[in-house]
Amino acid sequence: MNRQPYRILLYYKYVTIPDYEEFAAEHLNFCKELGLKGRVLIAAEGINGTVSGTIEQTQQYMDVLHANPLFADMVFKIDEAEEHAFKKMYVRPKKELVTFRLEENIDPNETSGKRLSPKQFYEQLQNEDVIVLDGRNNYEYDIGHFRNAIRPDVESFRDFPEWIRNNLSQYKDKPILTYCTGGIRCEKLSGFLLKEGFQDVSQLEGGIVTYGKDPEVQGRLFDGKCYVFDERISVPINRTDEDVIVGKCHHCGSPEDRYTNCANDYCHLQHICCEACEREHKGYCSESCEEADLSRYEV
Ligand SMILES: [Zn+2]
Ligand SMILES: [Zn+2]
Repeated sequence: MNRQPYRILLYYKYVTIPDYEEFAAEHLNFCKELGLKGRVLIAAEGINGTVSGTIEQTQQYMDVLHANPLFADMVFKIDEAEEHAFKKMYVRPKKELVTFRLEENIDPNETSGKRLSPKQFYEQLQNEDVIVLDGRNNYEYDIGHFRNAIRPDVESFRDFPEWIRNNLSQYKDKPILTYCTGGIRCEKLSGFLLKEGFQDVSQLEGGIVTYGKDPEVQGRLFDGKCYVFDERISVPINRTDEDVIVGKCHHCGSPEDRYTNCANDYCHLQHICCEACEREHKGYCSESCEEADLSRYEV
């Protein structure tokens, strides 16, 4: 098999970064010098990034980070690609890596659920008593998720605490499995569940992306595609013939898993849309968005 010329890296680590704002500024220069593109968040509590570049650029990036004692054991998830998956390079200093609307911050190095390998997670998924909680936003769930997982009706991670308190309290005695794209959100989510009094909380280590690469499990029991925050928008996970489409076109309801943004600049709603409906509705999510645009440009 031919190797593709580019790679996309996905990584995070919860570790105290001294002078994180200064570190972020230096890191941006470093990434630009290498020629990488992507998004990196830097906080006092750690780093979270996804970047694309050539094999050499990404290798150099990983080598330099691994040479830094703070990130010596950081795990990089690597996808091959034909080209960059981002248009620009951003490095942003942030107060928290993942924003949670909570009274007190959670340190995953102190409180976090049990870490399950893809194989252990796959085995637990088949336990009838288990509650599987998707740790992502509703629009991520809608194009693909683990079979029988609960869909959290949240559009932003910060809304999880309230949603859990309102919807899951009855499951405190049950084994809970959580998962997210790369594992970073579950570190805090599972810690939060433990603090809320859930007894038995486990998380998928390395997230869906790692699960999809496991040679033995091959993405089994994951239905649909995995939403990703780069220009690919989604990636396949289930490598068996059980691969299915779980999304539905916003307009006609036919099975579909491609996302598009509403053509109205004041809306930009991200919605699942089939190619035929995208042509018919000219990329608008609704008639009102189409009409609003027409009247705006009428003379
Ligand atoms: Zn359609
Ligand atoms: Zn719209």
